[in-house]
Amino acid sequence: MTIEDGHLAIENKEITPGFQSSIDNPRSTTNMVNRQSTIVNRQWMAERVTHSPEETVLFGREIAVHLQPPCLVLLEGDLGAGKTTLVKGMVAGLGAASEDEVTSPSFTLVHEYGSAGRVYHADLYRIEGARDLATLGLEDLSSQAATVLVEWGEKLGDNAPLPCVKIRMEHLGRDDRRILIERVEG
Ligand code: ADP
Ligand code: MG
Repeated sequence: MTIEDGHLAIENKEITPGFQSSIDNPRSTTNMVNRQSTIVNRQWMAERVTHSPEETVLFGREIAVHLQPPCLVLLEGDLGAGKTTLVKGMVAGLGAASEDEVTSPSFTLVHEYGSAGRVYHADLYRIEGARDLATLGLEDLSSQAATVLVEWGEKLGDNAPLPCVKIRMEHLGRDDRRILIERVEG
């Protein structure tokens, strides 16, 4: 995936089989490149179905290659959808920690990986209400040159700082998971 001439392009050779991108046929109403102004808003979507946790971790590593801090990544999906599993791959791909070091921050709410707080991993599952949310300081984290990965990102609602990537995960049955990625560059 490269940025060429103002367009995002996905080079298939970088992507393992099974990756489908709608980049050549994006949702046209949201795909907008305005060359006349400094506001450039590009959006693309990609989809992958994985068949094992290992495959999801590998996909997380692939995604990590394309994350440039500061970047807020919101992960949505039910319990067991594979959010933490995907985060393992992303954190490892970012070089901040090994897969095994990444665990669910359900109780601690935020984990920090790597030196100088380069990657933060939050889980909003147990968060209730805006006050709880405020104590997390996600806004502060998002303004640093860091990558912030947030499970249950939908709980941020309209309070969310603009994410650069939104990931929706669905349990398709057995070990199959659908992973939808939506990237926004503002
Ligand atoms: P979440 O963070 O969304 O609650 P987890 O990543 O913690 O989900 O858990 C996903 C569970 O599903 C793990 O036990 C994992 O081993 C299992 N699993 C089975 N198949 C997959 C797959 N294709 N991708 C991710 N996890 C999978
Ligand atoms: Mg989780």
